[in-house]
Amino acid sequence: MAINPEYKDFTSRAAQAINNPGKQESVVLALNQHETAINNALKQFSKLSVARQKAGYLKYKVINELDRYLIEFEDNFLANGGKVIWARDAAEAKLEIKKIIKNHQVTKAVRSKSMVFEEIGLGQSLKNSGVEVVETDTADFIAQLAGEKPSHMGTPNRIFTQQEVSDLLHVKLSAPENLNPDAAKEFTKNYLQQKIAAADISITGCNFLISDMGGIATTENEGNSLATISLPKIQLVLAGIDMLIPALENLDLYWPLLASYQMGKTISPFNSIITGPRKEGEFSGPEELILILIDNGRSKVLEMQKQRQALTCISCGACANVCPVYKLVGGETYGTTYQGPVGAVVTPFMKDFETYKHLSYASTLCGKCDSVCPVNIPLHNLLLYNRNYSIKNGFVTPGESRKIRWITKAMTSRKILDMPGSGLKNFLISISMKKSWGTQRALPTVAPKSFNRQLKENNNS
Ligand code: SF4
Repeated sequence: MAINPEYKDFTSRAAQAINNPGKQESVVLALNQHETAINNALKQFSKLSVARQKAGYLKYKVINELDRYLIEFEDNFLANGGKVIWARDAAEAKLEIKKIIKNHQVTKAVRSKSMVFEEIGLGQSLKNSGVEVVETDTADFIAQLAGEKPSHMGTPNRIFTQQEVSDLLHVKLSAPENLNPDAAKEFTKNYLQQKIAAADISITGCNFLISDMGGIATTENEGNSLATISLPKIQLVLAGIDMLIPALENLDLYWPLLASYQMGKTISPFNSIITGPRKEGEFSGPEELILILIDNGRSKVLEMQKQRQALTCISCGACANVCPVYKLVGGETYGTTYQGPVGAVVTPFMKDFETYKHLSYASTLCGKCDSVCPVNIPLHNLLLYNRNYSIKNGFVTPGESRKIRWITKAMTSRKILDMPGSGLKNFLISISMKKSWGTQRALPTVAPKSFNRQLKENNNS
């Protein structure tokens, strides 16, 4: 049977990352600094466990009644003067966006804070239509200059050195050589401000869709996103259908939780609620506000009674920060828009289960991810449910299935477990598991006597 190319790429990227200690160090450095900040920010909650329970409960309620909440949100959003376009998948979303680009003769776009933008591959599609797109979040802009895709939901990919930033600005944007950090910051700020002022359209993500008021909530560090929604004439918002919260008042819970877990801040410096296009008498804001509501595989996650809880995710990225696998291999290894534990749960359903099932196995099942999730998603259990789904649906090779049968038989037979001697058992383990176990770790070995046998001998002596 041919090896799945996604799995092959994943293992080869993982091997490269593991053999690149410099890169690992930069990932771990960024994550460790971040973890300290998160722990400090979380001190603001007098009862953190209650806050997490409430946040999880409210999102889960919305996910379980999504049809009702989506309609309520749409009605309110339309009443506020916005337009809604529903897209079943990435192709449909890109087709609709292409029509908007054509109708408005768009040639320049600015974007900010949108994972969905990456998910649907909008960058390439806009490039094909001749539209220049500039990222406006400074860290993401530097990554864009370096040709790197985002590899973490909450934080920048890695910390670029001062020299790297200065070289990128010099080579790509003809900035003077060897800029110091303040000069590099000033140069970038001016460059982005010019791009925002000249853009025909802004393409943004959102953090929450507020059902009871038809509003869009965004949160950010720098205020660039606020500028992108204030100046261009058209604003396009990309949102998954799972981003709803019931009411405006719930933001007093979600905003501090997200700021703490995502950025290590008690509250983000810039929080905005967009309630429709610019109204008469207002001096800023888009003339047209269009929301693209995207399914793109989310309803397949929704169909799964257990795994649907992963749709309550608020994209803070905390589960990736603490995941030993993510720390070792880094976000790029996953080869997907959503990485880390939650990405490993939802991606197989959102894309193609058989092709991406290996992600559910890229976990030690240590449960650290569950312990930090602000909405209490039992991630490691959901990964086990994914593995179970994979086997039940026959997404295993005949060899794997044979091995599972043998192991099940051996592990459930008292006679085999108590068989004296470990030589034959260790030999069978080595020939059946050596290849899949890999070369970086020692194969497990069986003790010469089973526990049951030792107990009987002790009792008889
Ligand atoms: S699953 Fe939980 S911890 Fe992970 S990104 Fe989503 S909300 Fe954050």
